[in-house]
Amino acid sequence: MRIYRSKATQVKGKNWKIACDSTNSTYYPLVFYSHAHSDHIPRRLPKTDIITSRITQILLKHLTSNFEDPTYHETYSADELVIKQISSGHIVGSTAMILDSDEGKLIYTGDVSIREKGFLEPFKPEKCDKLIVESTFGSPEYIFPEYNEIIKETREQISNYLENNIPVVLMGYALGKAQMLYHAFSDLSETIVMHGANYKINSLLLEENVGGSIPATAYEEAKETELLEKSNNWILYTPLKSGRDAFFSHLKQKYGVKLFAFSGWCISPNYKFRMAVDHGTTISDHADFKELIEICNKCDPDQIYTIYGDNVRFAAELRKLGFNASPLSKQTLLESYF
Ligand SMILES: [Zn+2]
Repeated sequence: MRIYRSKATQVKGKNWKIACDSTNSTYYPLVFYSHAHSDHIPRRLPKTDIITSRITQILLKHLTSNFEDPTYHETYSADELVIKQISSGHIVGSTAMILDSDEGKLIYTGDVSIREKGFLEPFKPEKCDKLIVESTFGSPEYIFPEYNEIIKETREQISNYLENNIPVVLMGYALGKAQMLYHAFSDLSETIVMHGANYKINSLLLEENVGGSIPATAYEEAKETELLEKSNNWILYTPLKSGRDAFFSHLKQKYGVKLFAFSGWCISPNYKFRMAVDHGTTISDHADFKELIEICNKCDPDQIYTIYGDNVRFAAELRKLGFNASPLSKQTLLESYF
């Protein structure tokens, strides 16, 4: 089995080849899409066999321009190859690929998390021979606070504002982070409003009964019906942007809202000030450093390849811990030939 990066992460056996999370429409005989974040999918899908989850298929339909063409599989098998998917615990529909072949067992995590978040099944590591793992928070300084504690603390902050007639704006990426926020905070107010991409993606997921989606009013409709003037007890969900953005300045001036930003990067003390928000809350849909190490320990592979984020640094950290790890890059391609 050869694992290398050339335009996409590729795994090649004697008689088969698969590209993982290819962001271009180059033809490969088989492609796996772990989830529908834009850095993992192309704008135009290649006309080929695609392995992905049902929810990612639904999202691909809306996020790409030629959905009708390819053939989709939730599992795949050929002579020497069986591929299945398990939840990667990252966002709605995200999966890790488990590839079993006569040349060994490989796991490709895509973006991953093993934390319990209520509505998403966390990734459950399995013993494998080779592991391709993400590195977004692959440095020891990235250890996130305990999820349930940070949710509890944030629920208290939001309730306090609402009880004092101060509406809140909760900002998080519309696909992934937002569903975590809807699940964790929406019972705190009877008036739930969503703006822009948050409303669009939520409506799509709600139609398909996907966990984490909730009934909500579009911001435009709330404006027309003056819903936001009726009381000051409302939650507005928006994509994550700087609090200096004209839209947020308007909301602060008109309604006196408090802004909450939700991101793994809030772990850096400057982030809150850089984003000009009232609260920076460290919640991520990625594994932190400790979780990444736990994944590597439990998968216990002979070889680890790191991808995404600072993968050179994460591979170095793994080698310090005794793992046989290297960043997946063009260099790895050369190494695998010689
Ligand atoms: Zn992602």
